[in-house]
Amino acid sequence: MKIDLSGKTALVTGSTAGIGHAIAKGLASAGASVVVNGRTQGKVDAAVAALAKAVPGSKVRGVAADVSTGAGCKSLVAALPDVDILINNAGIFEPKGFFDIPDEDWSRFFEVNVMSGVRLSRAYMPGMLKRNWGRIVFISSESALNIPKEMIHYGTTKTAQLAISRGLAEMTRGTAVTVNSVLPGPTMSEGVETFVRDLAKQNGQSVEEAAANFVKQHRPTSLLQRFASVEEIANMVVYISSKEASATNGAALRAEGGIVQTIA
Ligand code: NAD
Repeated sequence: MKIDLSGKTALVTGSTAGIGHAIAKGLASAGASVVVNGRTQGKVDAAVAALAKAVPGSKVRGVAADVSTGAGCKSLVAALPDVDILINNAGIFEPKGFFDIPDEDWSRFFEVNVMSGVRLSRAYMPGMLKRNWGRIVFISSESALNIPKEMIHYGTTKTAQLAISRGLAEMTRGTAVTVNSVLPGPTMSEGVETFVRDLAKQNGQSVEEAAANFVKQHRPTSLLQRFASVEEIANMVVYISSKEASATNGAALRAEGGIVQTIA
């Protein structure tokens, strides 16, 4: 199978770093014209330059916009009216006990992790249906299924993404548009690396030790027994964004190293 996305325009939200950046690189390598997004122009410009260098000859541009606000999504859609592949990746996490999570955190998590994808799907999906081809992918998490007690608000937003994704897929009946979600497990993105570095410092361990301990202690059912790389997640996303994945729709696809122990 050779994945060829030439002629398709892909938007990856939150792609200046981490999993989103790896997805942008994967899609660009498959020939898509890729639009990078982040909140600041400086980081977007740097990410575009890095991708252009990593994938010579690729078509990469950037739009700076905060997708956690209605105004940010509006300005993004004004700058980029049509996309064929929408990857709702931007997301935040923060371990915090339930009794310490104020309303403001619940709202912020919903705005970034849920409403960004809601607003952008509402803006871009009608064009996909009209053109009779499109891909929408929500980057959820295994935390959507195994709600982590140390960040129930995060888990809740990730479950909400599965509901939205499945609901939108129901609207694609008989078309060549698909809507799916991908569920990564612990993945060594920039955001997570900072988190693991802090853990290592707190416990007087090396970063490698802290990462191994995290998986052993907090994700004991992991079959992978390590953090995934961002590329391992991006590979799944590139496939599900491809023409070849035409028979997979409304699915929650796991790339979580076998942490979730149920079969379906
Ligand atoms: P990260 O923090 O490394 O990168 C997130 C990117 O999103 C950054 O470029 C950041 O600038 C951008 N971003 C954040 N808020 C934004 C906003 N409001 N508007 C535009 N851009 C914004 O994160 P990551 O670990 O790569 O996570 C990416 C996605 O994968 C998230 O949805 C996360 O929930 C999900 N995920 C991550 C893991 C993991 O272990 N890394 C596991 C499961 C799911």
